[in-house]
Amino acid sequence: MFSSVIGHRRLVSLLSRAIARDTLPPALLLAGPAGVGKRRVAMAVAQANNCLEPRTTNELERDACGKCASCRRIERGTHPDVIVIEPGDTGSIKIEAVRDVIDRAGYRPFEGRRRVVIIDDADALVVPAQNALLKTLEEMPAASIFLLVSSIPDALLPTVRSRCPRLRFGPLSPAEVAQTLVRDHRYSEADAQAAAADADGSVGRALTGDSADLTAARDDARRMLEQSARTADPAKRLDAVRDLSGTKGTTAADRDQMAACLRALASLLRDLGIVATHADRRMLANVDLAPQLEKLTSAFDHKRSLRAYSAVDTALDALKRNASPKIVADWLVLQL
Ligand SMILES: [Zn+2]
Repeated sequence: MFSSVIGHRRLVSLLSRAIARDTLPPALLLAGPAGVGKRRVAMAVAQANNCLEPRTTNELERDACGKCASCRRIERGTHPDVIVIEPGDTGSIKIEAVRDVIDRAGYRPFEGRRRVVIIDDADALVVPAQNALLKTLEEMPAASIFLLVSSIPDALLPTVRSRCPRLRFGPLSPAEVAQTLVRDHRYSEADAQAAAADADGSVGRALTGDSADLTAARDDARRMLEQSARTADPAKRLDAVRDLSGTKGTTAADRDQMAACLRALASLLRDLGIVATHADRRMLANVDLAPQLEKLTSAFDHKRSLRAYSAVDTALDALKRNASPKIVADWLVLQL
């Protein structure tokens, strides 16, 4: 229900008015930081579209009742016309996962008014899956809505992005994060306030205590690789990690940031292995960085990538055993 969404009033009002007037675009990209409630809003869209007793407030906005059979089944994930797709154990969404909904998209919904397909972490869609989806987005069946949810929207293919108007979610206010923690996660008021203060407006971050900025982490990782490719001079390489975002101190947040950088580095190195062996490009996890990866392969052949990959593993271990992020970064950049 829109009424249970905390924060994002402007977006929620936009959506509920569009549903009331039946002008909701058939595909939308819900983009914004992780853990701010994008998926909850997507579920509210599904409910408002399929509720058996929807409420229309002041003639302009429509919301679900939250109580009817349809609302409850959507909430439980058992409504036949509301399908949620998310990454599996491998961290990616394979083509098989979307093929089924694409096949079904041509038919009328079973019992609801609109079929709503929610793809959470849509950036995890492998490229063939995105291409398959693209065909559906180009000829959207009237009774279906696709909601792509992503905190790294730019990792999606430009062709897919261009088919989906983007709804930009901002961070929540600390008060909104605290309110969510109390209501949905049984935090005491005091604990909620403390966790919210250090959460950058994300309930997800408040819950995990993980405050890593994934975009900065990946930029840092790429910079480390590029500098290592450019020079063997230790001083110059150490320069490259001087301003790394996780090396300012030794707090838990610094550690999380450095760990995120190391995981990004591992992911880039895996991709370099793929590019270097001329394997299928569609396997790349960082497909948007393909041109940069291409340049790096002259320095990072398969063997060097593997060696670097194992150094990253060692660095992650050291970080877990409480080595300082700065020392880990300095050591690692000399091993690459
Ligand atoms: Zn209802």
